[in-house]
Amino acid sequence: MDPIERMLDAVLADVRPDHSGAVADYIPALAAAEPERLAFAVVGPRGRVTSVGDDEVEFTIQSVSKPFVLAHALERLGRDEVFRHVGVEPSGEPFNAISLELGTGRPANPMVNAGAIATSALAASGSLEERSRTLTDALSRFAGRSLSVDEEVYRGESETGHRNRALAHLLRSHAMIDGDVTTAVEAYFRQCSVRVTVVDLAVMAGTLAFGGRNPLTGERVVREDVARDVVSVMASCGMYDYSGEWLLRVGMPAKSGVSGDLLAIAPSQFGIATFSPRLDRHGNSVRGIRILERLAGEFGMHAFEPHEAIAAPGIRVEHTAEGTLVHLGGELAFSGAERVIGVLRDLAAGKATGDGVILVDARELGRAHPAALEVLRTELADATGAVRLLA
Ligand code: GLN
Repeated sequence: MDPIERMLDAVLADVRPDHSGAVADYIPALAAAEPERLAFAVVGPRGRVTSVGDDEVEFTIQSVSKPFVLAHALERLGRDEVFRHVGVEPSGEPFNAISLELGTGRPANPMVNAGAIATSALAASGSLEERSRTLTDALSRFAGRSLSVDEEVYRGESETGHRNRALAHLLRSHAMIDGDVTTAVEAYFRQCSVRVTVVDLAVMAGTLAFGGRNPLTGERVVREDVARDVVSVMASCGMYDYSGEWLLRVGMPAKSGVSGDLLAIAPSQFGIATFSPRLDRHGNSVRGIRILERLAGEFGMHAFEPHEAIAAPGIRVEHTAEGTLVHLGGELAFSGAERVIGVLRDLAAGKATGDGVILVDARELGRAHPAALEVLRTELADATGAVRLLA
């Protein structure tokens, strides 16, 4: 067995005996979910997918669609227009609360239902069919395959969705959504009813974890700044009224849904997804949370874990007949530029009497932050003419 698969399997075996919580029962199709289902998948930076458990079982995406529809809205309309209609503050309230700002009626954030309905209305326009196609296509690009709506779940959502409909009317009364309320809310129900597997969700999470590029297909789905905005909102609001404790204990931007799906992001490392239908009182998957807690604890994935690499760019010094070559590699961050300057000063001091040049080759850097390059340029400009930068 593959070593990564073996580790995921061990985590799964560990949480399997936990039978606490209850499946969502507000519609028959969700109430009928097999509560023992359990699946777990991760996708790494090069698109390698590892999945264990019931990884081929399809379920409806539910609220896990919200961050991706937010991404689509941001890509389409830009930050200002989107956040004029929906806030970015954690509501501290359950997912279906009437979390509207006093006075303006702006919903608290795009991860609770009120905000998600407003976001969905921004992300897609036209008839119900057109909106549903736009939303399903957007989700499909994140997943790297063509997804479709579960019509039975959609009917259930639509038949029982009085609270969401009421929220939509409130939003309309505050002009937070335009046009026909019914079309907007039905499109939101269809968005929640898109079928996925745990592997689809891991790839979707990966697309956000790797700056908006789908790690499986290589397609740029959204801009890097859009992905960062969405991940930020997930970090503060993704787990409803459990978001603060989640950030403390797990430290991964995440989103949960009532079908028992849960998706989390270890930035630049992994897209992660779990599926287990029994929910706790916040509406989050019980065993999903336990799996993610393990990842934060033993796998070093808490986002605020210190990372050495960011301050340690690759530096390789090569002495040639023409002078000294300093090759930079990996990521050059502001903190790492300091190390490079230290090396350059040591080199310059060592060859105080020589006349060879020092050439700094920054062309192989995987990623260079603008401020870091600026610091290097300034240092080189201040140094004697014998140091040059290739960037
Ligand atoms: N369809 C559900 C709703 O709008 C989604 C909620 C959820 O997954 N938390 O009520």
